[in-house]
Amino acid sequence: MSDRDPIADLRRIAFLLERANEATYRVRAFRSAAAALSALSAADVAERARDGRLTELPGVGDVTARCVTESLEGTEPVYLRRLLATEGLDLDAEATALRAALRGDCHTHSDWSDGGSPIEEMALAAVELGHEYLVLTDHSPRLKVARGLTADRLRRQLDHVARLNAELPQGFRILTGIEVDILADGSLDQDEELLARLDVVVGSVHSGLNDERSKMTRRMVTAIANPHLDILGHCTGRMVSSRPAGVVGPGDRGHRGRTRKESDFDADAVFAACAEHDKAVEINSRPERQDPPKRLIRRALEAGCRFAIDTDAHAPGQLDWQRYGCERAARCGVPAERVVNSWPADRLTEWALRH
Ligand SMILES: [Zn+2]
Ligand SMILES: [Zn+2]
Repeated sequence: MSDRDPIADLRRIAFLLERANEATYRVRAFRSAAAALSALSAADVAERARDGRLTELPGVGDVTARCVTESLEGTEPVYLRRLLATEGLDLDAEATALRAALRGDCHTHSDWSDGGSPIEEMALAAVELGHEYLVLTDHSPRLKVARGLTADRLRRQLDHVARLNAELPQGFRILTGIEVDILADGSLDQDEELLARLDVVVGSVHSGLNDERSKMTRRMVTAIANPHLDILGHCTGRMVSSRPAGVVGPGDRGHRGRTRKESDFDADAVFAACAEHDKAVEINSRPERQDPPKRLIRRALEAGCRFAIDTDAHAPGQLDWQRYGCERAARCGVPAERVVNSWPADRLTEWALRH
């Protein structure tokens, strides 16, 4: 038995979430769990924790049950530790420092797929922002609505990028890449030989977002284990708001100003796979995505994952959205050294090549 009080821990978490202005439903989860537990005796709570029956109580879910179990074991719940580590930080300063540490962007689109601007305009905007590199990640063939590039068009794009790089300012490079669809069986939607040639590969789920939990988990873990994939793009697929005014590219199939719930998958298994294979979890900066949500960023951090803070820009002005991702990352305590796009281009491409 420990002298930690699981109910006090749940209430403390709720308080810290409220103070950090997190969504009401998230706060309520901790407050309801605290209320449910306080109706029981301490012995009853301990017994339920031992038998894994905490979640049978109304108002207690997986996350809150885990906090209770950790608390009963005498350790500070991971969720609480993460919140405490970031409370009182000057978030503006933290986010600004993180943004300043970034040297490039690993997820961007041009008018070769569903972006609104030519590659050179995207590159010049990136130069203006002070980036040292921009990874060009247009869509893969199956994403027809986004004019996904066939193998032939991607080959032509690689030649085009090589020519552009010769003309761009010294010290700046366009890195080659793709946002490749993760198909239903977890395979990647482009020729192996091409994927191997690219500097950086972002893999994302764009179809079957409502796959059943175990199927989605298997699908994502298979893709993460694929040596070609370097970064797991917008992992939950959620849409938190309608697209902001002025966005040129559709950005995503089927998203017409609607919100969309998160895909269901075993986040611990997915993040463990990312950590094991040394792949990065993307923190997607698009205001309508904000993906992954902060609670999952914290879990990925705890799992030992690396991150990429990317804009998924479909137009030059959107390259400046990186600060939104930095704010969210700073709020979760993500340190710059865990962020692969804080590295110089050579280190980034060496890391990608090692996979
Ligand atoms: Zn995408
Ligand atoms: Zn994208």
